[in-house]
Amino acid sequence: MNLAELTVHEAGDLLRRREISAVELTEAVLARIHEREPTIRAYITVTAEEARQQAAAIDARLSAGEDLPPLAGIPIALKDNLCTRGIRTTCASRILADFRPPYDATVVERLRAAGAVILGKTNMDEFAMGSSTEFSAFHPTANPWDPTRVPGGSSGGSAAAVAAGEALAALGSDTGGSIRLPASFCGVVGLKPTYGRVSRYGLVAFGSSLDQIGPLTRDVTDAALVLSVIAGHDPNDSTSLPWPVPDYRRALTGEIADLRVGVPIEYFGEGIDPLVAEAVRRAIRRIGDLGAAVDEVSLPNTPYALPAYYVVAPAEASANLARYDGVKYGLRVEGADIWETFDRTREVGFGPEVKRRIMIGTYTLSAGYYEAYYLKAQKVRTLIKQDFDRAFERFDVLAVPTAPTVAFPIGARVEDPVAMYLTDVFTVTVNVAGLPGLVVPCALVHGLPVGLQLLGPPGSEETLLRVGYAFEQSGDWKAVRLP
Ligand code: GLN
Repeated sequence: MNLAELTVHEAGDLLRRREISAVELTEAVLARIHEREPTIRAYITVTAEEARQQAAAIDARLSAGEDLPPLAGIPIALKDNLCTRGIRTTCASRILADFRPPYDATVVERLRAAGAVILGKTNMDEFAMGSSTEFSAFHPTANPWDPTRVPGGSSGGSAAAVAAGEALAALGSDTGGSIRLPASFCGVVGLKPTYGRVSRYGLVAFGSSLDQIGPLTRDVTDAALVLSVIAGHDPNDSTSLPWPVPDYRRALTGEIADLRVGVPIEYFGEGIDPLVAEAVRRAIRRIGDLGAAVDEVSLPNTPYALPAYYVVAPAEASANLARYDGVKYGLRVEGADIWETFDRTREVGFGPEVKRRIMIGTYTLSAGYYEAYYLKAQKVRTLIKQDFDRAFERFDVLAVPTAPTVAFPIGARVEDPVAMYLTDVFTVTVNVAGLPGLVVPCALVHGLPVGLQLLGPPGSEETLLRVGYAFEQSGDWKAVRLP
């Protein structure tokens, strides 16, 4: 048994039974990182020494007879847009290449308090803008299923690390699909929680009305375990919801016969690889076989979600990224005066995709264009939300594909922004509406993984995890994961 290949709950059981030590587990994962990183390049920073010390501290507590919570001693990776005190947090950008935050993000604080072992920081598209992890200022990440292909993005480093055994679980962030798309492309489970379910304090902001942090894991049980730790109200994030946090694992009953599952027709139309569509339809039939009532539904405004997203997200990004000017922190390139210093810092510090977003966002927010673009996009957002509200009067859950294709070859879409943006056509909808979405691997197509995406109303994470778990357990789920 290679310890690096365990799920969080399997490893946790072995740790608490003292059959393995936290140091052994961490060493196994560090050895896997050492072995696989030359090809995969999932990490920007590996904090091996700190991880060893944290693991040793957990072993000491276990030896003292302490009863430790589920994530204690579990090696976990963090996307590099989550602030870690004293540890480089780059957002895969030159402008933050040497940034060491003075504080931990709330999710990091919660993981540490739960005894998780932090392995390091994973690669991503610069400032989370992208769908392939090719827009990292440092290096691309390879898909562990086929290193000539992308892992998806922007949390591609986190998904690839989990798929390759370079972490037992990871955190990512999802503004328009950045957890769910890489989960689908890498054959792991990814959960984008309801907007507000998880505190964004210490997440470097991209689109503040869209961003959420969530887990990438090997199975649904692990996603439930991680969500239980990171969810909850945080006074430091005024948009975090004051709802109590359930023990999400208790939702995993295996029973779904009481549920109604809707299949939105707009997600199976033009542009989707017919084999991907067929694989997802097969998965939905299996959910029907488990007793859920399955029926079709229409969400007529779906085609407007992607254009609305690509107005709102750049607008918010252009405002959020105004703070990188070389004055308080980050890269500074001196000019003749302060204005030239701003210009040079930003010219050198940002990559081309980030510059494109700042320009689009500044344009759509400027006087005379605001009403035509930003305001209109916000109205479209309401229409999308109303489509979902109507659907959730009839259905508990909607089942859809995650992306129109399997993982594409490295380089295939970097020159064509619209082709890259179209990758997100099935994922941006839930961010635009603030809903949760869960991706569970469901099939191999062209030898590559495909994820089934389950969507629910705000706060329905327990229902989504329940359906995801029942689906996962009803088949040979290990066949659609890398060993
Ligand atoms: N691919 C989308 C974008 O580029 C979503 C990114 C994300 O979810 N962070 O904006």
